[in-house]
Amino acid sequence: MSDRIVIVGAGHAAGQLVASLKQKKHAGEIVVIGEEPYLPYQRPPLSKKFLAGELPAERLIFKPESFYDDDNIEIRLSTRITSIDRRGKVLLSEAGEAIHYDKLVLAIGSRVRTIPIDGTDLSGVHYLRTIDDVTRIRSDVEASRRAVIVGGGYIGLEVAAVLRTAGLKVTVVEMADRVMSRVVSPEISDFYQIEHASHGVNLRLSTGVTAIRGDDRVSSVATDAGEAIKADVVIIGAGIVPNVELGREAGLDTDDGIVVDAHCRTSDPHIYAVGDCTSHPSETYGRSLRLESVPNALEQAKTAAANLCGEAATYTEVPWFWSDQYDLKLQIAGLSQGYDDVVIRGNPTDRSFACLYLKDGVVIAADAVNAPRDFMQSKALIAGKACIDKESLADTDRQLKELAS
Ligand code: FAD
Repeated sequence: MSDRIVIVGAGHAAGQLVASLKQKKHAGEIVVIGEEPYLPYQRPPLSKKFLAGELPAERLIFKPESFYDDDNIEIRLSTRITSIDRRGKVLLSEAGEAIHYDKLVLAIGSRVRTIPIDGTDLSGVHYLRTIDDVTRIRSDVEASRRAVIVGGGYIGLEVAAVLRTAGLKVTVVEMADRVMSRVVSPEISDFYQIEHASHGVNLRLSTGVTAIRGDDRVSSVATDAGEAIKADVVIIGAGIVPNVELGREAGLDTDDGIVVDAHCRTSDPHIYAVGDCTSHPSETYGRSLRLESVPNALEQAKTAAANLCGEAATYTEVPWFWSDQYDLKLQIAGLSQGYDDVVIRGNPTDRSFACLYLKDGVVIAADAVNAPRDFMQSKALIAGKACIDKESLADTDRQLKELAS
């Protein structure tokens, strides 16, 4: 195929898409347009090793510049696309440039959810999504003793772990009554609350932030419990919002993401969408999903590349995700929402265990803490909609893969 493929967004999904198109020897031009000034890079280390100063920025880059050094590939950075003319197959950039495509891929990701309270514009207050955000956070953290993290989701807790390890006094303020409540069960939340408390992190659960105070620079965070928590630096991790507007304004079907089919095609057959910005059908769960995870971005990019190259690939992966906090690796397979029973495999006090979630007797998800084998093997149970008795699932003398067969 010799279509001119234009990819809008130069993040994780775009990086994989170019790699897959190259691997499939796509003959036409490939143009990647991204608003950030960086080549496609990995975000997960931003709240982990990069924030901790253990990884240089160069190591975040998905593929080196030489990888894109190909006659067929053009990368345009620091360029924002503002509209799509679907009839003319033309994109318009913020600078007014018109860019033609034969096939378009929207890989425009998501952005941070901002919180509508006073003081978020004070110096020392940060959101965290990009390399530039973390560079600013790191320089502030160096001169700080007390940090307040707004939001006890996985990003907030990863940041808490890094800053606490660096010796700051850390307080996490979370509106829900437990941490990571959107993605994990109460059993896992409990475990992480105990871990963070044992490292000296102050957790304020069921507590909302009402304002961030200071003159020029932040000095405290006010809560709805009437507290003013002293802070030299504040990091807000209040979730993300998918970037759907570009697609919606062009008339593509959208719900809480840009709607794609199992081939990653939008409601316009010439336009694909991949990664955080999409809402896709899940065979495993029988409903639409919008996922915020690297594996989803990578697998959708591979699926879109195959279809753009004339194959008929479908995306059927079981969702998965991970989070690193202290020396704990949390790996999540599947989605546990709606479970009616849980089996704990192993013992949380050993700091290595897994929770397996069942619905009507079927394994639908697993959360594994420092238990990579159970995580890997649980994926087959979830994909196969396995129905296994609870005693067998809990029996650590038997591997989950034995039960799958
Ligand atoms: P993005 O990586 O967001 O890339 C989209 C790009 O498109 C951005 O650079 C954006 O600026 C650009 N763009 C948007 N609109 C336009 C436009 N109109 N014109 C031009 N460019 C545009 N996932 C995990 O699985 N495990 C983890 O441990 C993990 N940790 C994370 C930690 C942090 C701090 C963050 C922020 C995310 C983390 N994630 C993690 C999520 C993961 O990084 C995302 O799911 C992934 O980056 C999605 O890739 P994407 O290409 O869809 O979007």
